[in-house]
Amino acid sequence: MSSLRVVVWGENVHEHKNPKVGAIYPKGMHAAIAEGIRERIPGAIVATATLQEPEHGLSEERLAKTDVLTWWGHLAHDQVSDAVADRVQRRVLEGMGLIVLHSAHYSKVFRRLMGTTCSLHWREADDKERLWVCNPGHPIASGLGPQFELPAEEMYGEPFLVPPPEEQVFISWFEGGEVFRSGCTWRRGNGRIFYFRPGHETYPTYHNVTVRQVIANAVRWAAPQGHWPEVGKSPNARVHPEPIRPKP
Ligand code: ZN
Repeated sequence: MSSLRVVVWGENVHEHKNPKVGAIYPKGMHAAIAEGIRERIPGAIVATATLQEPEHGLSEERLAKTDVLTWWGHLAHDQVSDAVADRVQRRVLEGMGLIVLHSAHYSKVFRRLMGTTCSLHWREADDKERLWVCNPGHPIASGLGPQFELPAEEMYGEPFLVPPPEEQVFISWFEGGEVFRSGCTWRRGNGRIFYFRPGHETYPTYHNVTVRQVIANAVRWAAPQGHWPEVGKSPNARVHPEPIRPKP
């Protein structure tokens, strides 16, 4: 089997604006996410791409050779070009897996694929988050216990305005009392999509071993399953007989 090809996309803005974020993620959040995937999927080819690169690092050629793309963004969703968002959406329909992280719920790519606002409630108050595994047999929950905790995170609360997920893997509880559907799957065309909630930039969430396990599990799960043909002329069109005309 050929190696799984993963691209970790990062907006890469907070890291350079906020010294607190830069201290937690000196090489960028994308570098920490990529490191976690490399640790847990040793055979995978894991690269990064950022907003600032030409075509945001997501050229047609590169996306054609990507099996799974992970996406983190927050401040600069509107700086992602429509051409690149179109391209990512098309690749998902063809079969590329997409892992959408934290504030990327508002990314162009995710909103297009969902077709809804993807809005939610939030609060930045160092809430403890407990993520309950509500689908323990799911491959994305592989190796996890019944629940795991993050000592401080941004709170996201319901309603999360997305289409009903096909599968619910995690539900979060926050110490403020809110709950949130924090691990959800969908399919669009031939592509598998996983949304995973934790990952606010001012917390070391992408260094957390369980979070890294979930992301690696999700990358494996989202790998392409088949191929999505271009739909056009019927493959049988050539063999259709000439219509039988009545004799004059
Ligand atoms: Zn956040």
